[in-house]
Amino acid sequence: MVTLKRSDLPEFDEVVTDRIIGDDEAKKTVICALRKDKSVFFVVAKEENLTQRDIIKYTSLASGKGWQINSGRPIHADLSLIAQLNVANRKTDGQSNDNQPEPSEVTAMFHYICKNAVEQKASDIFIEHRPEAEGDNLIKMRINGLVETIQSIPSSMAGALVAVSYNAIADDSSKVADHSSFVRTAILNAAINIETEDLTARLRAVYMPAFKNGSDLILRVLPEESSGKPPSLEELGYTGKQSEIINRMAAKTSGVLIFSGIAGSGKSTTIRSLLDSLQRRYSGKRIAMIEDPIEYKNEGINQIPLADIRTKDRDTKQAWAEAVKGLVRANVDIMALGEVRDDVTAGEMVDYILTGHQVLTTLHAPSAIGNVQRLERLGISRDIIAGPDFVSGFVYQRLLPRLCQDCSTPINSESNIGNSLHNRLSKILDFSEAKLRLRHEEGCDHCRKGYTGRVVAAETMLLDNTMREFIKEGKDSKAFNHWRSHGLRGGILGHGTTALEHAQHLMERGIVSPIDVEAAFGYIDMQNIESDDVIDQAELP
Ligand SMILES: [Zn+2]
Repeated sequence: MVTLKRSDLPEFDEVVTDRIIGDDEAKKTVICALRKDKSVFFVVAKEENLTQRDIIKYTSLASGKGWQINSGRPIHADLSLIAQLNVANRKTDGQSNDNQPEPSEVTAMFHYICKNAVEQKASDIFIEHRPEAEGDNLIKMRINGLVETIQSIPSSMAGALVAVSYNAIADDSSKVADHSSFVRTAILNAAINIETEDLTARLRAVYMPAFKNGSDLILRVLPEESSGKPPSLEELGYTGKQSEIINRMAAKTSGVLIFSGIAGSGKSTTIRSLLDSLQRRYSGKRIAMIEDPIEYKNEGINQIPLADIRTKDRDTKQAWAEAVKGLVRANVDIMALGEVRDDVTAGEMVDYILTGHQVLTTLHAPSAIGNVQRLERLGISRDIIAGPDFVSGFVYQRLLPRLCQDCSTPINSESNIGNSLHNRLSKILDFSEAKLRLRHEEGCDHCRKGYTGRVVAAETMLLDNTMREFIKEGKDSKAFNHWRSHGLRGGILGHGTTALEHAQHLMERGIVSPIDVEAAFGYIDMQNIESDDVIDQAELP
């Protein structure tokens, strides 16, 4: 039944959530109003069938504005009634526009956004404060690797969210000493822990200035601390052979094992998984981890929060180096470094390794072999990098969205996937054998927009003597080709297999979509396996 007249609506006092609901279309068509006792509300919607999820969303939106909501019901209305209510709302807005939101309202809104992110399994939240923008500001989230606009909010609220989250919500211990309160023009980092009745969340926040006179708040949502085991390497998506190789790398008693990839590629989850298994396998070894900030609680591992070492006179760079130096003296067996960011820390790390210890760390490198240049950029000479006891192994990983097996559809040679993608695919595979699948963009009850999470596509690189020789001479591509030659000798999805080949393997089994593989790696036919590239041993000096 469509409600046409305002007098047909239940009694209410205020139109509340118009300005924080969804995109423009939704704003025109959906609003929410509340009754005086603040316990009952109703949603007036153009759509006939609001789902339970929509109702929950509006309940949360209203609680985000400080209302105590218990129950709600949808009312189907026509556009003119919705328009009337919107106009009424704009007048209310006009009176309150100059007012900054109350801190409690901002905190409630922040909690609502985080709760929504956790429920949607988002990996990142982006709050964009643009004070000089004409319309509302946007809140976006990265879900299954893709960025979606979640809602729009007034600029004053966006600005308040950025500042209040740093000043009042973030952990003081995670802040740099000379930035105890928010400064728009600085790049700031902080850890945020939320523990309320209905939400436990841990986030890593980065604050950056944005054009014009605005800010970007990027929140990485850290997976919930589980009392149980972290996921195994195989559960993350590593093949059996790859995890065997990683365990072999980790079993070396000295050297550095580097996990590389772009930001947000799941490197720290992989390290966490490996540390957990190392700790159970070698209970007699002392394992310590330096992080900024601490991302996971690991029982049995000494976790050193960098914030505790950082002081007014000791900046982040010095604090890292100091922490590493401390662990060298403490004779810890295995050191996990959140990240090697500068030459000073790298220098301490080299000393630690060359005195017979083991380091696990992450670097931002575009491939496994790319770590050589990253290490060189950190001031470590090729003689050291190519030394027999320095590198335990290089791992490179990317995360690809995992297709929902319930709603994705098979691709065959007749499928309409566009001529050029079809041509590229037919160069590398046989359509009759591959079980390619295409995402269903709307998704189904078992997924979100056709995806059910993410899976690792990785390459694992152990260095042999030949590769070390090439690396020493600066011939990284020869070292790479030598490593590739192992892949050709039947090391399927283990040694010598690139991350792109791993992704193709997943694609041919319908686990990931060819479109997502290309989004992550570029055109799928770019990397042809050329057996001519295999380096002959005779070429070596
Ligand atoms: Zn589905």
